[in-house]
Amino acid sequence: MADDKPGYDDTPIIPGQTWKVHDKNRPQARIVTPGTACTPEKPGSAPSDAIVLFDGKDLTNWRGRDGAAKWKLENGYMEVVPSTGDIQTVQEFGDCQLHLEWAEPAVVKGESQGRGNSGVFLMGTYEIQVLDCYQNPTYADGSTGGIYGQWPPLVNACRKPGEWQAYDIIWLAPRFENGKLIRPAHVTVLQNGVLLHHHKMLIGPTCHRTVEPYKPHPPVGPLKLQDHGDLVRFRYIWYRPLRDYDE
Ligand code: MG
Repeated sequence: MADDKPGYDDTPIIPGQTWKVHDKNRPQARIVTPGTACTPEKPGSAPSDAIVLFDGKDLTNWRGRDGAAKWKLENGYMEVVPSTGDIQTVQEFGDCQLHLEWAEPAVVKGESQGRGNSGVFLMGTYEIQVLDCYQNPTYADGSTGGIYGQWPPLVNACRKPGEWQAYDIIWLAPRFENGKLIRPAHVTVLQNGVLLHHHKMLIGPTCHRTVEPYKPHPPVGPLKLQDHGDLVRFRYIWYRPLRDYDE
């Protein structure tokens, strides 16, 4: 019988895998149509299998502390309304590739942690700092893109205040079994295409002026954005669950 699949079946097994070298029966990669890159002028577009959490048009995927998210929606972005509180997604997810586009206030106000502070809280618990660190010194582990209170970013890749910026985050959630941590969380972060963290291990949840051990939680959680009293904007947010991730 004709067998026109490309590949081989007379090759050795790849150590640690169940497949042979160039295995003709090994499944093909899923097809994903890529999106387009974000520029300071224009939002990007999401890959075909991404789940869009915010596209600049409505806040239906988001909730505030008293129900509806109270942040301002205008001109294709949302903006923090100080004192209305953090907002978080209705959707809950764990391991993911996450993309966010955000901008610091063009009118510079405050200094250190008081300048353009917001935050991306993975699973509502683990913060990647959002801050205006363009010519604004602050403590290293609280800088833009820092794993707050734990790891400073490798570099400062901030654009000027008012310019749109992007985070691309690969998040591997912590694993708990029978109430015990069996694998800590790991994160990789790029800001404007520049690497800030490579597979960095988190020591626990985000804290201010202290450290705390992990507390067991479900394998999924919401994405939370922080109201720290500053007029930070977000315009495009999507994620892809890492269902293909092979431990
Ligand atoms: Mg913050």
